[in-house]
Amino acid sequence: MLKSWRAMTLWKRVFIGLFLGILLGLGLHYGLGDSGKKIADTWFKPFGDAFVNLIRMLIVPLIVTTLVSGMVAMGDARRLGSLGIKTVGLYLLTTFFAVWLGLAVATILQPGAGLGELISAGNSSVDTVADKLAKAGSAQRSMTQYLLDIIPKNPIKAMAEGDMLAIIFFSIIIGVGILLAGEKGKLLGDFFESASEVVMKVTMMIMELAPYGVLALMTWVMGVNGLGILINMGKLAAALYLACILQIVFVYGGLIIRTVLKLPFVRYVYGIADTVGVAFSTSSSSATLPVTISCAEKNLGVDKSVAGSVLPMGATINMDGTAIYLGIVALFAAQAFGLDLNIGIYLTVALTATLVSIGTAGIPSASLFLAVGMLQSIFGIEETQAVLIVAFIFPFDRLLDMMRTVTNISGDVAVACAVAKWEGQLDEEVFKSKSVV
Ligand code: ASP
Repeated sequence: MLKSWRAMTLWKRVFIGLFLGILLGLGLHYGLGDSGKKIADTWFKPFGDAFVNLIRMLIVPLIVTTLVSGMVAMGDARRLGSLGIKTVGLYLLTTFFAVWLGLAVATILQPGAGLGELISAGNSSVDTVADKLAKAGSAQRSMTQYLLDIIPKNPIKAMAEGDMLAIIFFSIIIGVGILLAGEKGKLLGDFFESASEVVMKVTMMIMELAPYGVLALMTWVMGVNGLGILINMGKLAAALYLACILQIVFVYGGLIIRTVLKLPFVRYVYGIADTVGVAFSTSSSSATLPVTISCAEKNLGVDKSVAGSVLPMGATINMDGTAIYLGIVALFAAQAFGLDLNIGIYLTVALTATLVSIGTAGIPSASLFLAVGMLQSIFGIEETQAVLIVAFIFPFDRLLDMMRTVTNISGDVAVACAVAKWEGQLDEEVFKSKSVV
């Protein structure tokens, strides 16, 4: 029994934890009433919190090491030239579409509307979050200040405070420095590469606890709140899935594959099917990378030189599904607490979601935890309050993570095809004819 439990893939165990948590929580909520709520709060929440803390501890090391090692993986600074500019440009463009698509869908579907009342009814600490968020809405930082804050006066302090945009900025600068330093920078480059491997391993270790963490969080959320919360989470999931599907069909399919490359969309879909399956079940762009590369080369005719450089970089910096998600989560939080959203906030959200998605590591649930810092920096709220919002989403995150990871890697492949074509490295015969069904 125990053996087959361990042999089961992580995402299945997480789902089992999720369902058991729902059942247990509902049992407590409806079966025991007030004392059930108390049990959920006293006995289950601390375990969930411990798990969340474990992952939060990895946020800063994760961003720094993946980002710097991703830049170093591009090779020497000169190669950043033609290939780099095209790749980065296209990656940014797809992310731009993604983030606005997410914001549009979340504005229309309003996944967070009404959630504030629901959670505050069962959880008094959330009232303070609502207050603080409402205040934060009126005390927005000016756009200039916001942009200035991206440049850290003291990078160590920025890391200690978990100031993400500043950390991302600093990491990019260090990455460029390592590349420009050439041979002399190699030692530091190798250090970051090795550090990123280690941080990934530690993250995977902690993710092994996910089924239990999810069970505890789920029991707490359902025990305290009852069924109503599922409806809001359902809307959040619907918003994310819809935006991701639109991104894949219209931006990758319609814009890149059909309009720019003039190639059949259906071949692209067949070509990436394997890697989509792996991405969906692992929720990790990094773990999927080898399959992504082989699909691009074998099924779509992308030359090795392009696939080998563009795709690893994409797995690190191009996260369109994640950008969609972060934008939706920001609006979800704002809607939950009835904040007025003006165009300034939308622009801030779009910019932040883009930057954070670039700094997200390609591992399960990476962006969920980065969302804490993102909510803090957009709305100027305290960490504990941002954590509360994320804690509500956490138990369902696997479901959302599967779809955003699929979108992340689909975008990488579409961009790799485009760059390959522009560099004269795309075998269109393979793209059009290779049978992959
Ligand atoms: N799991 C995602 C990926 O690997 C990252 C995220 O959490 O959004 O692509």
